[in-house]
Amino acid sequence: MTSPQARRPIVAANWKMNTGPDDGAQLARAVSAEDLPLAQVEVVLCPPATGLTSVAEAVEDSPIAVGAQHVYWESSGAFTGEISVPMLTGLAAYAITGHSERRQLFGESDLDVRRKTLAILSGGLTPIVAVGESLDQWDAGETLAVLRSQVTQVFDVLSPEQTAASVIAYEPVWAIGTGRNASPEQAQEAIGWIRDTVAACQGRPAAERVRIQYGGSVSPDNCDELLSRDGIDGALVGGASLDAAQFAAIVRAAVP
Ligand code: PEP
Repeated sequence: MTSPQARRPIVAANWKMNTGPDDGAQLARAVSAEDLPLAQVEVVLCPPATGLTSVAEAVEDSPIAVGAQHVYWESSGAFTGEISVPMLTGLAAYAITGHSERRQLFGESDLDVRRKTLAILSGGLTPIVAVGESLDQWDAGETLAVLRSQVTQVFDVLSPEQTAASVIAYEPVWAIGTGRNASPEQAQEAIGWIRDTVAACQGRPAAERVRIQYGGSVSPDNCDELLSRDGIDGALVGGASLDAAQFAAIVRAAVP
């Protein structure tokens, strides 16, 4: 069994629908100019699709990786507006699936997230699979049931190897973009439930290797107490990732 210490923390920036090719490249250059512990922490920048090329060019001489915010599961064809995994060749090594904004605003279902995750893995990229409960579900005490269902829908159909190669982001919907983060205790407990669910799907060794981030209003003010917790293997960062210095502070807090 891989020890938890063997999991390399990963901090990903989700720029959402912000920045175009030029200001995206400028932000990427500002991030790479920061003093980042890149030997210890994996760093991924996820610009909008129109910025993938310029951001990939801006970080090509650095270990900083690039990720897509969204992909479709088919490889090519009549799917207006969509981007496939093969189209990301040479541009991105990661792709986010299941972000709550995609689930809530664009009707992405658990089945869609499963298909996209399989397509990302088949194309040789790493999926960042986002899961998390809504405020109503949190208030109703349904967090464990929601996480079990969302995680099982995806990880039941992966192999143990695919599971170990994946990244999961625990993102309580009530914490995203609200300035109200989960407490370190809440995040750690939920991430423990997620890891147990992955173990039930694909066995404990694979579950001990999958990296599970916390996401939801992570900032320089709260990153130390969140990211120092055992089992929290980094962060998926929205708002604070649009500022290079703030994002760098979060990356530094992820050093084990
Ligand atoms: C996100 O978009 O995944 C996110 C966590 O956003 P924020 O950090 O702004 O809450």
